[in-house]
Amino acid sequence: MRFATKLIHNGNEMDKNTGALSIPIYQVSTYHLRDIDQPQEYEYSRSGNPTRKALEETIAILEGGDKGFAFASGMAAISSVLSIFSSGDHIIVSQDVYGGTHRIITSFFARYHLSASFVDTTDIDAVKKSITPNTRAIYVETPSNPLLKITDLRSIVKIAREHNLITIIDNTFMSPYLQRPIELGFDIVIHSATKFIGGHSDVIGGLVVVKGAELSQRIYSVQNGFGAILGPQDSWLLLRGLKTLKVRLDYQQDSAQKLAEYLQKNKNVKQVYYPGLQNHEGRDIHYSQADGAGAVLSFKTIDAEKAKSFMKKIKLAAVAASLGGIETIVSYPVKMSHAAVPKSERERLGITDDLIRVSVGLEDIEDLIEDFEKALY
Ligand SMILES: *Cc1c(COP(=O)(O)O)cnc(C)c1O
Repeated sequence: MRFATKLIHNGNEMDKNTGALSIPIYQVSTYHLRDIDQPQEYEYSRSGNPTRKALEETIAILEGGDKGFAFASGMAAISSVLSIFSSGDHIIVSQDVYGGTHRIITSFFARYHLSASFVDTTDIDAVKKSITPNTRAIYVETPSNPLLKITDLRSIVKIAREHNLITIIDNTFMSPYLQRPIELGFDIVIHSATKFIGGHSDVIGGLVVVKGAELSQRIYSVQNGFGAILGPQDSWLLLRGLKTLKVRLDYQQDSAQKLAEYLQKNKNVKQVYYPGLQNHEGRDIHYSQADGAGAVLSFKTIDAEKAKSFMKKIKLAAVAASLGGIETIVSYPVKMSHAAVPKSERERLGITDDLIRVSVGLEDIEDLIEDFEKALY
């Protein structure tokens, strides 16, 4: 079955008891035990809930993994995955990883002596050199935020296997429609489902998909023990969002390509970052591991003043700290997502005060381009 069909027919498209074409929201905390000597599938909703289960099975099928897990947010998913490591362990992490991930690793997990090296994972030799006897995992994001840098997933898997390391990827920017890292050998895929999977800027959630029974059991123990689970209402919203993932992304990606090409020609734009552009660094690697360029792009204006006036003048986009919704969203990383990163570190990563990130929505692209034209004037 192809991806579009799997989104609609995956075994969770209807309620088996009634035939209802929408999985019911099982708003329940606990379940009647029919026989206290017999374990049953549902006993308590932290351990398992039928609405959440439908979502977890669906995302596992879409990513090609063995087990799916739904969490209260993307950060709850990331923190729960990191909780499988022990004091003294070391992990290698993409240097331009999501800001919240950087923060939780360097503040919270550092207190429990999980050490981390933040490495440019687009440089495979740099990854190799960072491996120590205590290294347990490599954690990557590609395309990365906000400059869409590309990490070669097959090379990461190869190194990881040589050193017996767990491979983890935050696949939020691509969604399972465009990139399925488990098919390339990854062990754990994480999503902020708040973004493309929910897709409507109305729910916070996180998803994890795991390959392998032993690793799945470790993640389940954290989900059930730590308890950062997704509630049934929000699980239902994500199930609903998933059904239109492909049509939304096809349209948004098509518009992102057109917008990127338009921006490249605008004389007030210095550089455009989008894997769909011919000159984007790592483009060939990207297309060897993903089926499209996605709907997020960044660009640099001729100077900081121009970027600031653009942010004031843009009308058809929300100025917000998220992405992946049906509305176009623009953000100014220096003052928003990366405000907490020291200036010197930001500059090293190329996150300068002329940089703008765009998540392209479902508006008509002609209207968007007209609005961008005016805002950049
Ligand atoms: C938003 C985001 C997160 C965090 O997810 P929340 O749902 O906001 O907790 C993690 N990774 C990436 C790439 C994100 O864009």
